[in-house]
Amino acid sequence: MREPAAPCPKCHCVESLVVRHLADLGHIDGAPRFVNVREIALVDHPAPIPNLTPPVISVGRLSATVCRACGFTELYTRGAEMIPVDGDRVVLLESQPAPAPYR
Ligand SMILES: [Zn+2]
Repeated sequence: MREPAAPCPKCHCVESLVVRHLADLGHIDGAPRFVNVREIALVDHPAPIPNLTPPVISVGRLSATVCRACGFTELYTRGAEMIPVDGDRVVLLESQPAPAPYR
C-alpha cells in the first residue's frame, strides 16, 4: 500500500516506511528474549485505582517513519495528551507564543 509522503529531509528519497507499532524485544544481558514482546511506550505509570489489573498503564505509544534509502528515522508519539505530567519523570515545558509581527 502506498500513501503520499514528504521526501526524506536528509537525502530527498521519496520512499519511506511507516512503522505503526514499534516492538520491544525485551533484551536481557544482550540476548533477545522472544516472550513478552510488547509495543514500545514512552511512560509507564501506576494504575489510578489500587489493585487494578494491569497495575501499570503504558501511554505514549511510539510509531516511526523510516527513509528506505538512508534509514533516517523520525519517531512520533500517539496519545501524547494522555501522558501524565508529574514534574519528575515527565516535565511540561511551554514555549512563549511568537510575538505578533510589527505593523
Ligand atoms: Zn533518506
